[in-house]
Amino acid sequence: MRTPAYFAAAKRLGLRTVQWSVAGFDWKKITAAEIAERVLRDVESGSVILLHDGDSAGKRDRGATVAALPMIIEGLRVRGLNVVPLSQLLEPEGPRHFSKRSARRKSRPEKKPIVFLDFDGTITKRDVVDVILERFADPRWLTIEEDWKSGRIGSRECLSKQMQLVRATKDQIDDLLDSIEVDEAFVRLLDTCSAHGVEVHILSDGFDYCINRILGRPSLNLQERLGSARILSSHIEVDKNQWKVDFPSFHQSCAHGCATCKPAMMSLLNPNRGPAIFIGDGLSDKYAAASADLIFAKDRLADFCRAEEIKYRPYKNLGEVADQLDQLLSANVALAQNLVERARAGA
Ligand SMILES: [Zn+2]
Repeated sequence: MRTPAYFAAAKRLGLRTVQWSVAGFDWKKITAAEIAERVLRDVESGSVILLHDGDSAGKRDRGATVAALPMIIEGLRVRGLNVVPLSQLLEPEGPRHFSKRSARRKSRPEKKPIVFLDFDGTITKRDVVDVILERFADPRWLTIEEDWKSGRIGSRECLSKQMQLVRATKDQIDDLLDSIEVDEAFVRLLDTCSAHGVEVHILSDGFDYCINRILGRPSLNLQERLGSARILSSHIEVDKNQWKVDFPSFHQSCAHGCATCKPAMMSLLNPNRGPAIFIGDGLSDKYAAASADLIFAKDRLADFCRAEEIKYRPYKNLGEVADQLDQLLSANVALAQNLVERARAGA
């Protein structure tokens, strides 16, 4: 159909011809994963993707094309690309024939995904604040905890009140912090993100002193790996055996009463609006999960996501997250397909 006569006729009629720059070859007898793979291999910002609806000449149904779409959309999202209507892609003064070359000229740098990690229970195996309270606080901390869990108070008020009930010397807290285990695959997760050029930041309602002591453990060898990571958390300092708290990552716009407002900090750390990947485990992550593009959740955060029908990827340890991210960031379509199905089953 695309003959010189066609183009001449279209021009006479004042019609605009739009072509494609990337094809899924879905008219061939190939699988959904193969269609997605071909699209994701060549796609970039400004691409026009060719897929077919309706029956082809051979009366083959479009089941494979339909099944490829979630994989393609997921692969685009991870690279910071969105699907938009053609009318939005083509400016009024744009080229008449939207060819591969003009699509390339329009392309902008891809928006890199950014990884945000919770600390307590996510990087560490146990929630450090809970362990401190269990060991050193007046039991009334549990009543305050219930007020927070039920949503009657925010985490800022909760932590302020709970830490007032703690009596412990610096040495006692240090000993406890040194006994906290870190997820064995945390280093691998950092290395995976680094290999893909993806920034990692840590957002925590917990305390800077505790986080720095744990992550500064020489055996973990994290100093260089965390060189460019921002660690945003609550602040704590000791006065004899009492602990005073402050909330430098509290945000004016926060209506949740957060100690560290994770969605506000995610927005601040992500000025290019790359896809936000959040990894967490607890209720202090619920507002972050609601504003992330891709969520890895376990324990209470997974329960919350299920209850709120927020799509998430379940995980048990950071090794699973590292593996999934490596595959996703490499746009490995077979795994993307698997993840789309798993996320659907989990949601
Ligand atoms: Zn908040």
